[in-house]
Amino acid sequence: MYPSRFRYEAARSLGQAIQLLRDGGEEAKILAGGQSLIPMMKLRFARPELLVDINTIDGLDYHHVDSDGAIHVGALCRHADLERSDLLRDRQPTMAAAAPLIADPIVRNRGTLVGSLCHADPQGDWASVVLALGGSVVAQGPAGRRRIPVAEFVTGPFENALASDEVAVEAVIPAPRGTPSGGYLKLERRVGDFATVGVAVAIETSGDDVTRAGIALTGVGGATIEATAAEQALTGQPLTAETIERAAALAAEAAQPKSDHRGSAAYKRHMVSTFVTRLLGRADGAQERAA
Ligand SMILES: Cc1cc2nc3c(=O)[nH]c(=O)nc-3n(C[C@H](O)[C@H](O)[C@H](O)COP(=O)(O)OP(=O)(O)OC[C@H]3O[C@@H](n4cnc5c(N)ncnc54)[C@H](O)[C@@H]3O)c2cc1C
Repeated sequence: MYPSRFRYEAARSLGQAIQLLRDGGEEAKILAGGQSLIPMMKLRFARPELLVDINTIDGLDYHHVDSDGAIHVGALCRHADLERSDLLRDRQPTMAAAAPLIADPIVRNRGTLVGSLCHADPQGDWASVVLALGGSVVAQGPAGRRRIPVAEFVTGPFENALASDEVAVEAVIPAPRGTPSGGYLKLERRVGDFATVGVAVAIETSGDDVTRAGIALTGVGGATIEATAAEQALTGQPLTAETIERAAALAAEAAQPKSDHRGSAAYKRHMVSTFVTRLLGRADGAQERAA
């Protein structure tokens, strides 16, 4: 199908993009990688009257680490940039594990992490990863910049906390205070598919103990789910067979899967438990190697 009629503007600066959004009101939308928006428009699930293209703005395609150790991912940093990133491979195991599992190479070449957070698809992989890492989104509007924790940024399925005249300029992953470990596992029907079940685990340890635990689930509910009880059960504890088993059971309890053509609710819940066990087991191994 063809999209409904729309006006297209290529912004040359963030200021111009914000002004265009102001002029367009609720009927204007930012175009980043276009990998979610364009299919939605072609299906006529989205009918923006104005598309504000930010691909023509210089300097938004970065990802870097700042002097405090926080990782910043610009609004035009593509999934493929993150997949090939030495920085993530060296410093951020959960993001490094997730990047190659997003969609297929064609989508990864255009789609962006920030666009994925803005799109807020409950089956989007990055929201779980950034939630597990305690990350946030920096929004810029007419009144300046504000930082929104991703837990508050995603307000519902396909809904975010941006005002209609705000652009998400970057995502920020805070510096770890302990030794970081973790990963991302995804069950998909075929390579490149959306998650039947996805689990992001981000652990920080000091000595034997977990100082921070982040566990978030993709595709097993109407929204991305933070497994807070599982996180709390791990914090302050060493990673042992018992603590891992308990966290896996609590994460499976937090899941709200539905039976569908991809599998029964019980199967999906079981996969959450299996993935949490595997990822925490790997984190335990990484801890031993670092000791
Ligand atoms: C075949 C296919 C398979 C896919 N598989 C997966 C998958 O397995 N896992 C997964 O996570 N994703 C998957 N995706 C989605 C993909 O990751 C998208 O790239 C991502 O969801 C959106 O990023 P984008 O840059 O393309 O955003 P766009 O499509 O350009 O925008 C998406 C929405 O976010 C808004 N937006 C984007 N950037 C900004 C910004 N900077 N500020 C304000 N609003 C903004 C837009 O206005 C729009 O509403 C798939 C997509 C396709 C087409």
